[in-house]
Amino acid sequence: MLSEKEENRTELNELGEFGLIDLLTDGITLVNPSSIKGVGDDAAVIDNSGFRTLVSTDLLVEGVHFDLMYTPLKHLGYKAAVVNFSDMAAMNAEPKQIVVGIAVSNRFSVEALEAFYEGLRLACTQYQVDLVGGDTTSSKSGLFISITVIGQAAADQVCYRGGAGESDLICVSGDLGGAYMGLLLLEREKAVFKADPSVQPDLDGFDYVLSRQLKPEARMDVVAALREAGVRPTSMIDISDGLASELLHLSKASALGCRIYEPKIPIDPTTVRVAEEFGMVPAVAALNGGEDYELLFTVSQADFEKIRHIESISIIGHMTANTGEVAMVTTDDQLIPLKAQGWDGLKQ
Ligand code: ADP
Ligand code: MG
Repeated sequence: MLSEKEENRTELNELGEFGLIDLLTDGITLVNPSSIKGVGDDAAVIDNSGFRTLVSTDLLVEGVHFDLMYTPLKHLGYKAAVVNFSDMAAMNAEPKQIVVGIAVSNRFSVEALEAFYEGLRLACTQYQVDLVGGDTTSSKSGLFISITVIGQAAADQVCYRGGAGESDLICVSGDLGGAYMGLLLLEREKAVFKADPSVQPDLDGFDYVLSRQLKPEARMDVVAALREAGVRPTSMIDISDGLASELLHLSKASALGCRIYEPKIPIDPTTVRVAEEFGMVPAVAALNGGEDYELLFTVSQADFEKIRHIESISIIGHMTANTGEVAMVTTDDQLIPLKAQGWDGLKQ
């Protein structure tokens, strides 16, 4: 299991708040023209003239949203940023800036926070997002992370959950269920390690699902591919809580029903293998497992030819006039209603 490196440990109180902020934000350069002022003043300044400004925020609590027993802090930083970028992708917008609030106990060393910021900065570089500010404070126990992302989109490009039309095609990007299988594997190894710390983790051959859990990506590439193909989704949402839950959100917001087909749900072979190892039907992992951060969207039937050749997109069903009926046709031709069994942060 992963543990914080304790050599070269610097205590937080050796640096103090401002020293820590300086260290964590040292050398940050702004790449987006809309970023007028970044770290170093009482507020960041952003100019999105001519564009819509989109804002979204996420709060992550240690022990509730992440477990440092198997999440390296660099990965946590990367993921914390990327899940916010994914919210922008889901609106058909581009993330441009983030502000990062952290509350941290003295259990964490300066080096641990540097590792977290390394991950944040890597995500920002990869997605060309500017880290323009934040807040740093102490916590009695544990780590709290609040990230707010600011994005931009042309006014006529913004996609909402509620725009789907009757008989629109339902599409998903990438493949589903992998992140949840990664989580189950990590939880299993954690339990083994707790029982006997001398046992080495047995995670060989599971790289794909582990990276789905530990290092998700926001599908900006899909947003770009759709734009290139001249397609604006009629509705869109990112898959953070499982396909079933997100389909319910889209259908409710669009005041329509929908029907998807089990054999059409894209699932990676590694996900299938791990699901079977856990005695789970792979489609259930896709429907109810969370954190894949793929995009679920609808397009008009007229756009079928434009999207059918885009490799990372699968068409899994269609919207129906049948308000309230969110259903799946199973592999053996049964029609079953879908329920939101995805992870619900308030039902812990
Ligand atoms: P204030 O007293 O106005 O809240 P701070 O002293 O908290 O200002 O922050 C000083 C500057 O450092 C601000 O520009 C703020 O946005 C930035 N900052 C503070 N904490 C962080 C952080 N964890 N990550 C990035 N920037 C930060
Ligand atoms: Mg402050």
